[in-house]
Amino acid sequence: MTELAAVPVTALKGVGAALAEKLAKVGLETLQDVLFHLPLRYQDRTRIVPIGSLRPGQDAVIEGVVAGADVVMGRRRSLLVRLQDGSGTLSLRFYHFSQAQKDALKRGTQLRCYGEARPGASGLEIYHPEYRALDATEAVPVEQTLTPIYPTTEGLTQQRLRQLTSQALARLGPHSLPDWLPAELARDYRLGKLDDAIRYLHRPPADADLDELAEGRHWAQHRLAFEELLTHQLSLQKLRESVRCQQAPRLPVARRLPQQYLINLGFQPTGAQQRVGAEIAYDLSQPEPMLRLVQGDVGAGKTVVAALAALQALEAGYQVALMAPTEILAEQHYLTFCKWLEPLGIEVAWLAGKLKGKARATALEKIAGGCPMVVGTHALFQDEVKFARLALVIIDEQHRFGVQQRLALRQKGIDGRLCPHQLIMTATPIPRTLAMSAYADLDTSILDELPPGRTPVNTVLVADSRRFEVIERVRSACAEGRQAYWVCTLIEESEELTCQAAQSTYEDLSAALVGLRVGLIHGRMKPAEKAAVMAEFKEGLLQLLVATTVIEVGVDVPNASLMIIENPERLGLAQLHQLRGRVGRGSAASHCVLLYHPPLSQIGRERLAIMRETCDGFVIAEKDLELRGPGEMLGVRQTGLLQFKVADLMRDADLLPAVRDAAQTLLARWPDHVSPLLHRWLRHGQQYGQV
Ligand code: ADP
Ligand code: MG
Repeated sequence: MTELAAVPVTALKGVGAALAEKLAKVGLETLQDVLFHLPLRYQDRTRIVPIGSLRPGQDAVIEGVVAGADVVMGRRRSLLVRLQDGSGTLSLRFYHFSQAQKDALKRGTQLRCYGEARPGASGLEIYHPEYRALDATEAVPVEQTLTPIYPTTEGLTQQRLRQLTSQALARLGPHSLPDWLPAELARDYRLGKLDDAIRYLHRPPADADLDELAEGRHWAQHRLAFEELLTHQLSLQKLRESVRCQQAPRLPVARRLPQQYLINLGFQPTGAQQRVGAEIAYDLSQPEPMLRLVQGDVGAGKTVVAALAALQALEAGYQVALMAPTEILAEQHYLTFCKWLEPLGIEVAWLAGKLKGKARATALEKIAGGCPMVVGTHALFQDEVKFARLALVIIDEQHRFGVQQRLALRQKGIDGRLCPHQLIMTATPIPRTLAMSAYADLDTSILDELPPGRTPVNTVLVADSRRFEVIERVRSACAEGRQAYWVCTLIEESEELTCQAAQSTYEDLSAALVGLRVGLIHGRMKPAEKAAVMAEFKEGLLQLLVATTVIEVGVDVPNASLMIIENPERLGLAQLHQLRGRVGRGSAASHCVLLYHPPLSQIGRERLAIMRETCDGFVIAEKDLELRGPGEMLGVRQTGLLQFKVADLMRDADLLPAVRDAAQTLLARWPDHVSPLLHRWLRHGQQYGQV
């Protein structure tokens, strides 16, 4: 028997070139693809429901006798057919109908219909039901299984998909669709048979539990989710292997530069910084590329860790590139590294998209010429940027970078031969279960200690009807020599409207707070203007900074101890946490006012309450996950990192530890099962990174 993975859809009856093209649009090229194209939901057409027991909103098969069919003139002309069974009466309503259709629906005709019963002008009605006339002499059986509803595309009907899946199911068996999970694993993890699971999900029996299926709790769904998550895990591990088996420059643990650096720094690294620093130092001394993620809450001091890593490469005579997702943040890092490295006699170069003409040419030349430390934005990824001896790439705030971009770095290595080490730093704490799945290709270190002297930010929830009091609060904080942020959140996903709102808030606050020096920063300003405003705020020349969420990432002004966030209900918790991390960086007690617009939804209230209760990014991340689901939280929609067909990280989180173990076992004992699995699940997407 041929494997269905090798049989093209054109082998099915009724599939010609035109249909094959449509099928390809939904990713269906082989019979295996057809079988893995699973229903989104089901209809129950296995029983005939008495009309008298129908409830509004119920999808049902009914059977009855036509008691009358009339064209009625309402707002729109329609054909109204009265249908009776022994238990009650209901109307079928057609807005589009032909004379022939009307004639066929004459009094006394026996009909079987399927549709949704809805309350209408004449009691319960079904609009445009599917129907057929029944002949008294033949018994027409009802469906034997639940009716699947598939994801589809224009011009591809459910009926057609059902025909195709029926044909493919007829050819399904353990040999035509190999089960790549060895029996031993299936037994250990109590997983059913693949072909049974597929058959069940395409055609569940009449007594299947629809609720269980809708919630994804059925064993057949578990079986497939497990395989899909396993495959995802395998693809990340392969990705990791493909990086690890490359050569990287060995960087001996540094002595001289770190010592000098720490003397100049003015504070002691925290225990966590030392521990993570040592983990990185060890990785860098190895001949294979480091791939390490440092998770540390906002303000945990990741920059110091990055600097220590950089010094190890610099002392060994190599180049280091540090990348940040925004110009503001990149520039801040540039200034920090200039301050830290120039006293050590190390030159720092700067590259960003805004750098043009001569300045750009000079920067590129410097980098190609071996300037030891390079700081910049995504611009560092561009092809024309050539490094001389790049040994370490540091990426700040990883969640904004895709897997693809991370991989593109490999090409920047030395002579295309030695791959640079990669250090990725993120301030978005990721719940452990998710981290395991989303970042299986990385080793992780956690900076779980804040530098001494920080006081947790005191967070309060205030309804925007009390805006006036909040403004007074800003006034008195500034009178005491403190600085404050006033953050305007995104309006309906429109950057332009958001900037306008920030502009008018700026005007209002300037008018209300006469004598206070108020600044404005938003995404529509030129980078140079933004930088100038930021610099003034940092130097204390501005007391209040009205901002959009452009200040979210990394900006460091220790004297700012009050933050007002307008309409916090519009933001994700991770983002709120990032924002709030801008205050509480100095020794003064800091406050964050969440100025919400009532009424809040139940979930909205719960979410903001979490912000009030804790400043621990990991706790916030766990709760956010609980309340919202992972897709949004990781900001992965752009990278497509976590798009699954069957699995749902939230729902199936409890499978993840087993999945990880199973992946290891499979790689060790059944390595030849790995590529067929990758092929089965990932062929159509680069979603998990090129494998
Ligand atoms: P993040 O982890 O959010 O990137 P930063 O690296 O910007 O944090 O550090 C936040 C602030 O804490 C900076 O002003 C930094 O100089 C300071 N800092 C970092 N480590 C220490 C430490 N061990 N002791 C005192 N202050 C520190
Ligand atoms: Mg930072």
